[in-house]
Amino acid sequence: GPGCGKPSAKRWDHRLNEESKSRKASSLKRAAKYLKNPGIISLGGGLPSSQYFPIEFIDVKVPSAPHFTEQETKELGLVKRIGKYDIEEGKSIYDLHVGLNYGQATGPPQLLRFVTEHTEIVHNPPYHDWQCCMDVGSTSSYDLACRMFLTRGECILTEEYTFSSAAETVRPMGVQCVGVKMDEEGLLPSDLDSILTDWDPSAHSNAPKPWLLYTVPSGQNPTGATQSYKRRKELYRMAQKHDLYILEDEPYFFLQMQPYTGPNAPDVPLPASHEAFIEALVPSLLSMDVDGRVMRLDSFSKVIAPGFRLGWITAAEQIIERFVRHAEVSTQNPSGPSQLILFKLLEETWGHSGYLDWLIHLRLEYTKRRNNICYACEKYLPREIASWTPPMAGMFHWIKIDWQQHPSKESKSMPDIEDEIFHASIDRGALIAKGSWSRAETNNPGSDMFFRTTFAAAPADKVEEAIRRMGDALRAVFHLED
Ligand code: PMP
Ligand code: PLP
Repeated sequence: GPGCGKPSAKRWDHRLNEESKSRKASSLKRAAKYLKNPGIISLGGGLPSSQYFPIEFIDVKVPSAPHFTEQETKELGLVKRIGKYDIEEGKSIYDLHVGLNYGQATGPPQLLRFVTEHTEIVHNPPYHDWQCCMDVGSTSSYDLACRMFLTRGECILTEEYTFSSAAETVRPMGVQCVGVKMDEEGLLPSDLDSILTDWDPSAHSNAPKPWLLYTVPSGQNPTGATQSYKRRKELYRMAQKHDLYILEDEPYFFLQMQPYTGPNAPDVPLPASHEAFIEALVPSLLSMDVDGRVMRLDSFSKVIAPGFRLGWITAAEQIIERFVRHAEVSTQNPSGPSQLILFKLLEETWGHSGYLDWLIHLRLEYTKRRNNICYACEKYLPREIASWTPPMAGMFHWIKIDWQQHPSKESKSMPDIEDEIFHASIDRGALIAKGSWSRAETNNPGSDMFFRTTFAAAPADKVEEAIRRMGDALRAVFHLED
């Protein structure tokens, strides 16, 4: 099998909190094993009868790989029917009668198999006892993970600018974020090392030395930074040195784009095969995780659609088992219609090959969008105060503003100037996000000023117009010539 010759994951008993360690399996769920007894009639579990599910079938029209545009889907798309009794009628291995009833917290075996195979194709974790478990998206899997690992009074390590909802999840749990300094390649392992080596509880309300790291390695939100392979290896080594457990939140992994060549140079050709495509992606932390110290959070939100509320985690069997115990009393199981539709699309229409074709299509689409926003910035932003690195992944373009050049910097603070730019931009019809909203440490504003823009949402001409308006706002605030 694929696990042959690989080491076992380390044990994480010293990292799970009391809440997680004390969860017991539900008595009814434990009784489910007797359902396998031939001829048994169950009066045990409280499942409603599928007779009263008021839906006979669901038709979904989906693109036929590799014809993925909306127009192609209109003309060449396939209509797939999800029937109520497809299993009994021999038409499918998954149907409405199963999918609309209570299911397993891990997700249905039919779809769990697809994501597990996909994880093996793309990441091939280097220890043998890894598993996947489906969930209702990374917002929820991160929340569940925090409830498994953290205890009030502890700290969590994050990038110094971090996904604001990740910080908002832990703060009310009495957990402080400790920001690790970053450069264009994301967090700096050397800063992580010095934070941990020189940990001073008295500087952090007597919190013990942190050991849980939350990181977004590709197209980080909000900075757009992508850790290089070398950076990831150094980070993993540092995690081993300090015995960290890592939450690898990777919604943008497959939004890694083609290299940026600028407006006047030819594009780099797209990867010519699935192997070349996977080869072109910076390897995940999971792919180098010999210890089983990574919980990787994958999500369908950015690669299929956020409204499905579907994703999965990958971690060591011990961690997955505790996660499942928690999910059973929380999310219970991901939504049946969501799972049925993704099963039709991924397993019964595209297969792994068609799904990889789709991901290559997204890579090209996001490359065009990223290029468009970078060209617009080059054209419209005042280079004497605005600077940026073209992002290699994700949806965000992170723009640094040299606020020290503000004409009233003697009398105005950095937050005041940030607010002035924010409103000047809104007044001209462009909404941009303040960098300060994403500071990991609320009491530490840092010394630099940034704004986050996204190229994922608006059409190309609208993005260009918004950047033009932002450029006007900056010129007005900084009293610059056109
Ligand atoms: N509360 C009670 C009293 C129940 O009996 C059940 C279902 N067995 C639930 C909650 C769970 O409901 P849901 O399927 O909406 O999570
Ligand atoms: N993690 C990061 C870093 C994100 O930027 C986002 C979405 O904005 C999420 C998680 C949310 O993902 P999901 O829709 O799977 O909950």
